[in-house]
Amino acid sequence: MFEPDDPLFNAHLDTLAVRAGQVRSHEGEHSEAIYTTSSYVFDTAAAAAARFSGEHPGNVYSRYTNPTVRTFEERIAALEGAEAAVATSSGMAAILSICMALLQSGDHIVCSRSVFGTTTVIFNKFLKKFGVETTFVAATDYTAWEAAIGDNTKLLFVETPSNPLCDVIDIGRLAKLVEHHSAQLVVDNCFCTPALQRPLELGADIVIHSATKYLDGQGRCVGGVVVGKRDTMAEVIGFLRSAGPTMSPFNAWVFLKGLETLRLRVEAHSKNALELAEWLDQQPQVEKVFYAGLKSHPGHALAAQQQSAFGGVLSFKVKGQREQAWQVIDATRIMSLTANLGDTKTTIVHPATTTHGRLSQQEKIEAGISDNLIRVAVGLEDIRDLKADLARGLSAL
Ligand SMILES: *Cc1c(COP(=O)(O)O)cnc(C)c1O
Repeated sequence: MFEPDDPLFNAHLDTLAVRAGQVRSHEGEHSEAIYTTSSYVFDTAAAAAARFSGEHPGNVYSRYTNPTVRTFEERIAALEGAEAAVATSSGMAAILSICMALLQSGDHIVCSRSVFGTTTVIFNKFLKKFGVETTFVAATDYTAWEAAIGDNTKLLFVETPSNPLCDVIDIGRLAKLVEHHSAQLVVDNCFCTPALQRPLELGADIVIHSATKYLDGQGRCVGGVVVGKRDTMAEVIGFLRSAGPTMSPFNAWVFLKGLETLRLRVEAHSKNALELAEWLDQQPQVEKVFYAGLKSHPGHALAAQQQSAFGGVLSFKVKGQREQAWQVIDATRIMSLTANLGDTKTTIVHPATTTHGRLSQQEKIEAGISDNLIRVAVGLEDIRDLKADLARGLSAL
């Protein structure tokens, strides 16, 4: 959102990823500086008073604002095509901050059943204590979404593509549903990033990220961000300033460097993932592959329209039970056995006993998390070596 006289007015994504938000200090540094300061000084007592009252904009304390964090916020807002962004200490802090800022007792959330596990903990365990109820619906059952929206519904919360089965949810269709209600549509855009999908352009009101994943891209830092309209972000800032789950300047700097290569990375992740998914689909030990890049996936056409590539995460069922899935995982030697994703390093995990281990058997069945399911977040290693590693895994069966 740049004014016509700004050099970045009408600039394209790759330029924004490298340039947006940077303000140089008087040292004239070329790369972004890290401002590791908790507070800021004022020239006079009157200047301090004006800064504190908000009459003069500027930094007061790093729980409120910090120049490195602000650069990150402006850059991610530019990439998402948003008016404003607010950085948080983690992806979960981003989700909590929206809820604390925008909801009150008696309000209601409608949430996709296929969201990050801890998101459901925030809704079910903590918000519930304060009188906010959540209805969970099957991700692509639009009749159920519509039926669940009531007069007190304030948020619709969705993640697309979903984890780990890559369900693709029609953002534009959900945006139409909320048009006639006082609810806002929140999209967790962690799996696609703005390089592949821009939910605000499709009608969403708020986008959140776990910056920990692809925005960093190299598994170094935990962070999050909320983007959307300036008024809404002002509410979120109000909560963050008081409660304090803000982003550290060092992490903001790491994420800034991550953003500069974002599109190149997520396109390379997507290319590797598609090739791996097609290869897995041919293997006799594999029962089924879940990846929206495959023509056989029910969300393929929608993903092709809503996203510019299919992303780096896929999952597959091996023939057998938990024992067989564990054998495959344990026989790989390059992939990292960890639940993180969005990293240059490929990760492999058994959802039923890790990321989704807290779900009851019934909830696992409803979410499609079977015991023979394996998730792979495909990294940037040479695809030949990744295939060889999974071939080693599958040959253990
Ligand atoms: C990891 C993740 C989160 C939580 O983010 P943290 O940075 O770990 O707090 C939320 N949503 C999705 C889709 C994630 O993958």
